[in-house]
Amino acid sequence: MRKAGFTVFLSIATASEAARRSLPFGVVLTSFDGTPPARYTVAMKEFRGVPASPGIAIGRAFLYNDDELTIPEYPILSHQVSFEMDRYRSAVGRSVDELEQIKTRSGPAGDPEGFLDTHLMMLQDPEIEAKVDLKIGKVLKNVEWVLQGVVDELVAKLATVQDAYLKERTLDIRDVSRRVLSHLLLGGGRVTLADLKEEVIVVTPSLMPSDAVSMNKKLVLGLAMDQGGKTTHTAILARSFEIPAVLGTVRVTREVRLGDWVIVDGNTGLVLVNPEPAVLEAYRVKQAQYREQELRLKSLNSLPAVTLDGRKIGLYANIEIPDEVESVLAHGGEGIGLYRSEFLFIEHGVGVSEEVQYEAYRRVLEGMGNRSVTIRTLDLGGDKLVPEMFSSKEINPLLGWRAIRFCLSTPGIFHTQLRALLRASAHGKLKIMFPMISGVGELEAALAALAAAKDELSAQGVDFDKTTPIGTMIEVPSAALVSDHLATMVDFFSIGTNDLTQYTLAVDRGNERISDLYEPFHPGVLRLIRQVIENAHQAGIPVAMCGEMASDPRAAVLLLGLGLDEFSMNAIGLPKVKQVLRALSTQEAQAFAASVLKLKRSRDIENALEAHTQGRFSQSESHV
Ligand code: PEP
Ligand code: MG
Repeated sequence: MRKAGFTVFLSIATASEAARRSLPFGVVLTSFDGTPPARYTVAMKEFRGVPASPGIAIGRAFLYNDDELTIPEYPILSHQVSFEMDRYRSAVGRSVDELEQIKTRSGPAGDPEGFLDTHLMMLQDPEIEAKVDLKIGKVLKNVEWVLQGVVDELVAKLATVQDAYLKERTLDIRDVSRRVLSHLLLGGGRVTLADLKEEVIVVTPSLMPSDAVSMNKKLVLGLAMDQGGKTTHTAILARSFEIPAVLGTVRVTREVRLGDWVIVDGNTGLVLVNPEPAVLEAYRVKQAQYREQELRLKSLNSLPAVTLDGRKIGLYANIEIPDEVESVLAHGGEGIGLYRSEFLFIEHGVGVSEEVQYEAYRRVLEGMGNRSVTIRTLDLGGDKLVPEMFSSKEINPLLGWRAIRFCLSTPGIFHTQLRALLRASAHGKLKIMFPMISGVGELEAALAALAAAKDELSAQGVDFDKTTPIGTMIEVPSAALVSDHLATMVDFFSIGTNDLTQYTLAVDRGNERISDLYEPFHPGVLRLIRQVIENAHQAGIPVAMCGEMASDPRAAVLLLGLGLDEFSMNAIGLPKVKQVLRALSTQEAQAFAASVLKLKRSRDIENALEAHTQGRFSQSESHV
């Protein structure tokens, strides 16, 4: 795409102006109609990443960084130096206001060492301002970059002096500059994504699932993230919340500024920063078309997922929080095939009470009426951490203290959850399943814990459904390989292709550096899936799939052909997969699956899936 300059109005917000408008920003964005007078010329930038959540979002960038500030570096023109200095002075002014307020609040007793005064002096030091001014003019770079350089030089100088007092001032300098930088980049303070005040595109190096789950979903229009891949939990949450997202952009946080116009194309994995007016307009049209198409697909909601030869396929939804029930029903979900209960623990802490859990599970069951709801027991660990339990970092968290391993070694936590689940079973059609089971011994231990919870409830005369179906996830290769044994112990299987792919191929599902090696359609993964389905059917139990492969419309023909009974996915993906299934016959799918399983490379398999889908459906974009 051609990169060209264009103009956008930016004006600096004073502290009071920002406060009056309740903006989390230091920059107030005045208007954009495509042809404003040139106040500040910026070039359009384009970033490629992984299309992690479909849809198109257009909005202003909100830079979010939980741990450290990412300092952008970009060139400026000589006439923009004064603009950059205005930004600097404004950020310093707001930092001073902030410190004055802290000083008033804490009083003299709150600051016996007078460090606030020291910081105020440093902030207003004319020498630093002069240095920044001089350097900007010389290097013609943005003020954040220049300020960071000036501070680094100062700190390096202080490191060489003998005076211990002066040496210690390096910490204060870092602290003060951090405050100014945070005003320049984030509008000051640590604004959480729950505190947003207006619609934004979140641009971030990385977002923990706990941040994603607590963000204000109504105000986050889109997400662009340097790290991560399609099956990270942040991507999964974005899809659940229907927020277009592109992950694995690598550098976008370094090149985007607070308030820049950003387009996130979650269908193709493209992020455009400061798009030219014509591009912006084209994307507005695309956005409207996409929304229209989604609406059209929703008209399939009332139709059953039945193949041409009359085979009924279960189409279920994955959820992370009870609020999603509404969206499941709106997208025609027959039930919930995976409720990731760990998000309740992430939200409330690992000690979340039996009562709070019971109410959440009950709410979902009642919300779904007579539709079945499969709740997975706690799958904490890996990338889903709660600080109380995971304070020391593991070298290989995804191979470490996670899911059922965590539960079996913290029996109190597990027992409380099992009690809450069983009690909730009295209020709907509950199914329970265990995550990350690796073999018979682990499944036996989990079933024993469940039996103990049942015995206790029975002894206490507490009502629960004694026939609640119990299943296990198949997401560890060893479980797939011994699935013949496991199938005799449970009522159903649910294949978790996200982890099954990760563990079969030894490729971290969240590491964008090796995301090209993460191949859900690797023949090795497909053989395991085939084996699991065959073993389950031999034992007379049904098999669901709740990994992201189930939501890929291209994969539907293959999975149908392999005999999969139920598909479970983000609610947003349901209509498309239904559309595909309704146009297939079992016979055709079986023949196709047999031919695909002969192929040796995932690329060949993907090409075959692509070719099969192409032309038959208006849109067949991947959701995997
Ligand atoms: C999976 O691994 O495919 C799965 C559904 O579980 P999660 O994504 O929560 O690890
Ligand atoms: Mg998993």
